Amino acid sequence: MKKTISLENLAKDPGCLSEYDPNAMTIDKAGDFISKFLDVRLKIEHVNTEDALNRILADDLISKINVPNYNNSAMDGFAFNLNSLKKNNKLKISSTILAGDLSKQNIKPGFAAQVMTGSKIPDGTDTVLPFELVDQKDDSIVINEIPVKGANIRKLGEDIKKKGEVLKKGTFLRSAEVGLIASIGISKVKVFKKLRVAFFSTGDEVVKAGQPIKSGQVYDSNHFTIQSMLKRINVDFIDLGIIPDEKKLIEKTLKRAEKLSDAIITTGGVSVGKADYMKEILKKIGKVLFWKLSIKPGRPMAYGAFKNTPYFGLPGNPVAAMITFYQLVQPALKHLMGQINYKLPPLLKAKCISPITKKPGRMEFQRGFYTIKNGELSVKPNPHQGSAILSSMSKANCLIVLDIEQKSIKVNEYVNIQFMDGLV
Ligand code: AMP
Ligand code: MG
Repeated sequence: MKKTISLENLAKDPGCLSEYDPNAMTIDKAGDFISKFLDVRLKIEHVNTEDALNRILADDLISKINVPNYNNSAMDGFAFNLNSLKKNNKLKISSTILAGDLSKQNIKPGFAAQVMTGSKIPDGTDTVLPFELVDQKDDSIVINEIPVKGANIRKLGEDIKKKGEVLKKGTFLRSAEVGLIASIGISKVKVFKKLRVAFFSTGDEVVKAGQPIKSGQVYDSNHFTIQSMLKRINVDFIDLGIIPDEKKLIEKTLKRAEKLSDAIITTGGVSVGKADYMKEILKKIGKVLFWKLSIKPGRPMAYGAFKNTPYFGLPGNPVAAMITFYQLVQPALKHLMGQINYKLPPLLKAKCISPITKKPGRMEFQRGFYTIKNGELSVKPNPHQGSAILSSMSKANCLIVLDIEQKSIKVNEYVNIQFMDGLV
């Protein structure tokens, strides 16, 4: 009999999912696994179209109008009936129609109307030629090059058809989509409510920027990197501060987080250190699975749920926290936000211009700097790749993504790189 897999089962018995290896899970499996157990609960609200940037559409959008809603000129020029051209290709200018002129006009054979870009195409005409391609003398024009019928006319509905689908539910709204919504006359749009993500960093040694620092302490950079990355995907950040490595306090804060948010993210305390309590606490109050990822940086990571609110426990090391957020948490949040078809930037081939040391066994996300020379991508790995060296992220403009089995790389070999869209 097939065993049903629940997150609870998995937490108790990680071996019940055949591909699951508690000692080292690949990033792809981890991604599939996370999305499988996400409980998506979308809420809807209406926003003004001008406030819809970076929001996610909550309904298929159907147009009530044709765009454009009239045949119009694509050029400043002359509109005429192509078949009415006589042997000498001469036409008489009958009138001028400006864009915005709503009058109904009829142009007789042998005549041409002066039209501007966006002018209504008058009845009786089917072709437009720009001023530059005709010779004008007094109230007549001569056409030297015969255009094709319909030239320079933007047809009714050629952009969007009346009753046609404009955008699909789940579309992430960029500037183009916001404009597109306005172009069909819609001033208010149904979107999914913003996701609220509660965050706290953990660690007795972790201190907030602006406070004095003693030897043995470290400023909390994770708060700021994670908050910034959440801002970039338009998530509401619920700041629950820095929590010391005290079980009671962590438990209390997690309970608070669950009440306030749609997802919880923490950093630190997910490894096997003596003060790494997240595993123990989550096991007690929620459903949790801790794993080792076969990636570098970012080996320890936790995933689970607390009363159906997903929980992501990221490593404390600043680079590892950013990489695991980008590769795993961001796609999961996009899924929870209702966005369809979210994908990380694709892997591109780049020529490596200095050697890379790597042992097989883990997938690596090294920090690199790409340049383009003669149309070809080259990449230089950052000399400092430690998971605590946050400046290696700041100095990078891409990740060098090295497969599990990959060994060291020589100069001029090709590697995969991934742009850091939203990561830096
Ligand atoms: P942990 O995952 O708690 O074992 O922490 C791993 C490393 O990351 C330690 O060196 C911590 O001091 C450091 N670290 C933990 N949290 C943060 C933070 N919020 N900002 C910067 N460094 C941190
Ligand atoms: Mg710690």
